[in-house]
Amino acid sequence: MPFKSLGLHPLLVRATRELEYTEPTPVQAGAIPPALAGRDVIATAQTGTGKTAAFLLPVLHRLIDLPRGVSRALVVSPTRELAEQIEESCRKLARHTQAKATLVVGGRPMGAQERALRAGPDVVVATPGRLIDHLRQGTVRFDRVTALVLDEADRMLDMGFLPDIKRIIDRLPARNQTLLFSATMPPVIAKLAGDILRNPATVQIGRRAAAAVGITQAAYPVPAHLKTALLRHLLGNTEMPSVLVFTRTKHSAKKLARMIAADGFKVAELHSNRTPAQRTKAMEGFRRGEFQVMVATNIAARGLDVDHITHVISVDVPDVPEDYVHRIGRTARAGAEGDAFVLVSREEEGSLSQIERQVGQRLPRVTLPDFDYSAAAPKPTHKAGPALGTGNGRKSARSGHRPPGANGPPKPPGSGRGNPRGGPPRPPRPRHG
Ligand code: AMP
Repeated sequence: MPFKSLGLHPLLVRATRELEYTEPTPVQAGAIPPALAGRDVIATAQTGTGKTAAFLLPVLHRLIDLPRGVSRALVVSPTRELAEQIEESCRKLARHTQAKATLVVGGRPMGAQERALRAGPDVVVATPGRLIDHLRQGTVRFDRVTALVLDEADRMLDMGFLPDIKRIIDRLPARNQTLLFSATMPPVIAKLAGDILRNPATVQIGRRAAAAVGITQAAYPVPAHLKTALLRHLLGNTEMPSVLVFTRTKHSAKKLARMIAADGFKVAELHSNRTPAQRTKAMEGFRRGEFQVMVATNIAARGLDVDHITHVISVDVPDVPEDYVHRIGRTARAGAEGDAFVLVSREEEGSLSQIERQVGQRLPRVTLPDFDYSAAAPKPTHKAGPALGTGNGRKSARSGHRPPGANGPPKPPGSGRGNPRGGPPRPPRPRHG
């Protein structure tokens, strides 16, 4: 299929020909037609798939015949290097048009960027931090920007840019098209997409064969003393119909089960302190769906075969990578799909790296925008502390947790969106494919 058949402006087709793009890559073939039609697009595509041209070509096409001197498109990318590449690609693809792009990244004089922005370049390619600096100074406005591109959204999330992204979006009153590109689709990105995209066309490219089929994995960096609070936050704010929670010790499994039960969840426990009869009862009850949550130690990781487990959450990082693989293998059984989250403290990063080597991929790091990561560690004099394995914590210092009600399940996704800025992730379950 030639580029011409995508409906692109002839001047852009000419540029692709000169760049020796003989035919569109899959992400281009998937994203360009809906984007040309003005639709929002969410694309899962990694670097090297041709994703840059996949968003630049439709953006350029839509502004090519409009008057110059107005910034109509904003491309936000996580790093200066990536932004530079995007700007360079833009220049190449727009070489036969009058459209201009400018680069707004850190480490360069603000003044020159300000002047460039005032001239109204058609496309602004920026990193979030520097863009926010300009917005704060109030010298530039983006009130005629209609198209927003978020590139490598998962990396921006890893780098802590999510609040900046939301701030930037708030400053784009004319935005009527958003293209979101991400190498992976962790829950927070799926949530962001749900919030900011309207009826998006979905493009899914380059799924890694090495990743466990059907399992979406993510790592949640968190200080050790806040792990319990984060787990309760996740349980309380994400739709998780059937969750298997792993802890390192039976002691912490027991404690955690009690705490989650106090939050109103139906919980089963599976560890070596339980009698065979208790274990069978727990297993059967979990299988039948009587328990929404099962808290277990590694003994449950092997052999537990329950089809409907939607989430596996490891509150500690297993020392042995194989244990991790067995844990996450409890979800996505029988061709179903599932999410596997691991809460990782700084001390556990080494073990996580080993796991990443084992599974052949770097797990996306997920930071929850509305969770207080700076909450203090419990005072040593305190009897009850929230940390797993560091005390017999009964209550989190601050969890932001919404109790699901006496026996009720957590709210379904999409409900309770009353808090547009701070809403915790109640993601549609992120799906590959
Ligand atoms: P990207 O994934 O955007 O970083 O692009 C990776 C490389 O593929 C870049 O060097 C592009 O110039 C090149 N490229 C993009 N689209 C095509 C295409 N349709 N055919 C051949 N090369 C392409």
